[in-house]
Amino acid sequence: MNKKSHTKIPFALPDINNDEINEVVACLKSGWLTTGPLTKKFEEQFAAYLNVKHALAVNSGTAGLHLAIEALGIKKGDKVATSVYTFTATSEVIRYLQADPVFIDIDPETLNIDTSHLIQKIDKTTKAIIPVHFAGQACEMDAIAAAAKQFDLKIVEDAAHAIPCSYKGKKIGKIGKCTVFSFYVTKPIATGEGGMVVTDSEQIADRIRVMRLHGINRDIWNRYRDSTPNWYYEVIEPGYKYNMPDLMAAIGIHQLKKVNQFQKRRQMIAEQYDEAFTNLPLKTPVIVNPEDRHAWHLYVIQLELERIQISRDEFIEKMAEKGIGTSVHFIPLHIHPYWRDQYGFSPNDFPVALDCYRRAVSLPIYSKMQNDDVDKVIKAVKDILG
Ligand SMILES: *Cc1c(COP(=O)(O)O)cnc(C)c1O
Repeated sequence: MNKKSHTKIPFALPDINNDEINEVVACLKSGWLTTGPLTKKFEEQFAAYLNVKHALAVNSGTAGLHLAIEALGIKKGDKVATSVYTFTATSEVIRYLQADPVFIDIDPETLNIDTSHLIQKIDKTTKAIIPVHFAGQACEMDAIAAAAKQFDLKIVEDAAHAIPCSYKGKKIGKIGKCTVFSFYVTKPIATGEGGMVVTDSEQIADRIRVMRLHGINRDIWNRYRDSTPNWYYEVIEPGYKYNMPDLMAAIGIHQLKKVNQFQKRRQMIAEQYDEAFTNLPLKTPVIVNPEDRHAWHLYVIQLELERIQISRDEFIEKMAEKGIGTSVHFIPLHIHPYWRDQYGFSPNDFPVALDCYRRAVSLPIYSKMQNDDVDKVIKAVKDILG
């Protein structure tokens, strides 16, 4: 029997090789493990890649989102619009500041926020919006920017899925005032845990620099460096402990170099899936603007439950029996106990998100997948649904 046929295909795997391993070992040997020269280098290279003025490394995407909305002045009682179809991190950071999310239902094709719903739901109390570029496909940023202008909303983009990703020829990270990336282990580039906030605004960057490390004012540090003893610092705010250590940046530097190469491989896999699944009772991901770059962080199929005999959960079980890991993106926020009870939601408050959730299955899509693996996933889907 072929040994390969017994190998399991996990849902996600980071693409790490000797580049990252050697850099981490060198970092360990250097004796400098926390934020230092490698983090600085990673920030500089990230800023250069996106052609932005400031890139601020943090220890998670969640930390980055928290710092970004804090820097924009979101405070108690403010409202912040975001997608109901996202990971809870996008919304929990709003609660950290005692502000409230305004959930927006999604477009059933892209699973990005439906901009017509957005316009219905925002008012004068809404201070910001966090669009989520679901799966790595850019949101309709022109419509979002128009709504933001009309209602004076600040935009913080959740780009946890979206590198490399573009909208009308512009890279995500270069469009909005402030954009946040995640380097969690499953994300398009991974450092295990980690994140990056990018902005062209000096003011936002300065605030984040202070708040990500205990509220210590680095400006004073720099200004008086020559005359101040090196043990001296001043705390000007009750800041957070959100800095990225060099050990993580060591990985990030090399992941960033391969960001386009990784995306190319994922796009190839997406194209193979698209072609293989054309006649099956499922909907493949819909691309709105083919000239845009899709990061292909996720490949989400939607089962046509009316045409098949099994449920979505049974489909996932059958894939697992065949050794293939899958996932579901996302369980919409309004049906989670916390969000449901906090705001008194019922499942049908966001009917599109609920319906998409009931049909959604995320298939493996990552650069480490071999051709054999892709074929095996395709065969499994066809066997179960064919
Ligand atoms: C992963 C993810 C985050 C959080 O990123 P972390 O680095 O894990 O904190 C935020 N938003 C979305 C949409 C995500 O998928």
